[in-house]
Amino acid sequence: MVSGATRLAAVVGDPIRHSLSPAILNAAFEAAGLDWLYVAFQVPEGEGRAAVDAVRTLGLGGLSVTMPHKAVAAAACDELTGVAKALGAANCLYWQGTTLCGDNTDGAGFLDALRLDEGIDPAGARCVIVGAGGAGRAVAHALGEADAGRVVIVNRSPRPAEHAARLAGPAGVVGAPHDVAGADIVVNATPLGMGTVVATDGSKPLPLDVDLLTSAQVIVDLIYDPATTPLLAAAHGRGARTVNGLGMLIHQAAHAFRRWTSEEPALEAMSAAALRQLARRTADSGY
Ligand code: NAP
Repeated sequence: MVSGATRLAAVVGDPIRHSLSPAILNAAFEAAGLDWLYVAFQVPEGEGRAAVDAVRTLGLGGLSVTMPHKAVAAAACDELTGVAKALGAANCLYWQGTTLCGDNTDGAGFLDALRLDEGIDPAGARCVIVGAGGAGRAVAHALGEADAGRVVIVNRSPRPAEHAARLAGPAGVVGAPHDVAGADIVVNATPLGMGTVVATDGSKPLPLDVDLLTSAQVIVDLIYDPATTPLLAAAHGRGARTVNGLGMLIHQAAHAFRRWTSEEPALEAMSAAALRQLARRTADSGY
């Protein structure tokens, strides 16, 4: 029951209609018995700072930030965590007293998905990240912090690749597509494989040459819809271990929940809510 005492949290982005965050975080609030409500606001590019101002004016309990506002949100916070500062991007705004702080929980969510859900520790591992946008940079930084042996960035544009490699620290280098062959862990951080990205001949494009993959590798696709991308299907067919992006999404939301409430979230309830929403989406789209 929503009352005058209900705390409001929200996500802002554009587009936002298909966000799973309301389902995931409302499930977490409900499981914890907290009088919180989480909603999505479509905020167009250029209005990100106004959205952060609204957090202050309306006294929101917390704000999730997604494309295209992460950099503007970071700039509008009073303080940033080390990772948000390094990335120049905030996806989670929270209060410390009267100070509005910005964190970036994508990298921590990625590491938790690997370590907690899959039992994989990237320390010492040879990693290749294909893609160097917001997600690729967050993963590069996280793998550097996690003491990965090597973090090779492969991206079609060289400058973002150099930036992401720097974020990984001493382990970071810019590489070429064939580097996938020598990796222990390969991460797809491009949108290639999402249902919406289709090649001109109608096929679903792959982000890398799947003939380079082996059964000794872990292949992580940050995409979670579809759950099995063409990359993951091809990797599975070659005997590789495969991980999709749902765990990262759940765990980054879990970090936000902890920031906002100082409580431990019910990860299983969050995951179940996300899967229900995805199933509903699939049913609605008529597949
Ligand atoms: P972004 O900032 O737009 O970056 C996209 C990256 O993909 C860039 O490196 C871009 O290369 C590359 N790319 C785009 N189209 C390409 C193409 N046709 N061929 C080759 N490379 C291409 O996007 P993002 O926010 O990093 O998101 C990337 C993916 O991660 C998306 O699928 C997103 O849904 C997913 N993601 C998942 C989570 C999660 O929690 N699981 C969180 C964040 C993002 P250029 O630099 O050359 O443009």
